[in-house]
Amino acid sequence: MNSLWSNLVQNLDPYVAGEQPKDKTYIKLNTNENPYPPSPKVMQAIQSVTASDLRLYPDPDASSLRTAIAEYYAVSPTNIFVGNGSDEVLGFAFVAFFKKENPLYFPEITYSFYPSYCRLYEIRYRQCAMANDWSIQFDDIGDSPGGIVFPNPNAPTGMLLSLQQIESLVKRYQDIVIVVDEAYIDFGGDTAIELTQTYSNLLVVQTCSKSRSLAGLRVGYAVGHPNLIAALERVKNSFNAYPLDAIAIRAATASFEDQVYFEQCCNQIIETRDWFTAQLNALSFQVLESKSNFVFARHTQVEAKHLSKSLKEKAILVRHFSSPKIDNYLRISIGTREDMEGLIDSLGSILVA
Ligand code: PMP
Repeated sequence: MNSLWSNLVQNLDPYVAGEQPKDKTYIKLNTNENPYPPSPKVMQAIQSVTASDLRLYPDPDASSLRTAIAEYYAVSPTNIFVGNGSDEVLGFAFVAFFKKENPLYFPEITYSFYPSYCRLYEIRYRQCAMANDWSIQFDDIGDSPGGIVFPNPNAPTGMLLSLQQIESLVKRYQDIVIVVDEAYIDFGGDTAIELTQTYSNLLVVQTCSKSRSLAGLRVGYAVGHPNLIAALERVKNSFNAYPLDAIAIRAATASFEDQVYFEQCCNQIIETRDWFTAQLNALSFQVLESKSNFVFARHTQVEAKHLSKSLKEKAILVRHFSSPKIDNYLRISIGTREDMEGLIDSLGSILVA
């Protein structure tokens, strides 16, 4: 190891993202990107960027974007924080709320970035077990957690918690912050944003990467009580190097101004997901009930590792996780109907081989 590195860095086991191979053109169903382009209004907004927009520093408050998001959810701009992707917003939230004596809790099977943040920021954590039906055992949280975070729907299971379940957690643990990571909420779930108007310990984090087809733009946001937003701003201003850039502010603002296009895309993905699930069932897969833009499925006889490798040979990428509890599952992002038909045909031929 490099002797110039601190112990912390030497012991880090950084997050490993889904692969992005460049050797040929793949049908890419491994990182939950949206198969449709962003709204034409987003593209127009990017084309309207002027030389002065780039010459000057961007608006440090990202006011136009925060206002557009606030209007969209019928809350105040003082309830909104924006950052470079929800990963950055989550990172700020971990520093602002979870660096405490008592441990942070999150599900055992969940977004694998959470333990990475904990190691990076030296945050103690514990995991809530998953029941056989993949529900999260929130009873594992003792009386005094330092914080709670979970995605809703969960990743990679795609399973959704109800707003009643979220509200009962938020009510039960009023003296800690609960972060609900709603990266995939627009594909059939109900957002908990309305609850943030009643409960000042709830922070909802969302992203433009999935339902708004803007993964490349890197825009995420948090919605919560102004007191929570002020804490995130304090952390952000200490980093200083990461304000949203002028192009991202303009483009993401335009996305919130095109509701019709947004709904059409989400509905198309939901319809394709439901069709694809039925096709997988017919090929003897067990598929968890998903409310996201991906499904989590296992074949009753054939190993997931073999399937993902064979699909890659046919230029289709899906996600296979090697961690023991889920190594028999594939997480498959929902692409266009054509992508999914191609995948079903390929799976059919792999399974008879
Ligand atoms: N939360 C979850 C549960 C995710 O799966 C992802 C995407 N990998 C993110 C947050 C981060 O997304 P982004 O940084 O693109 O907003």
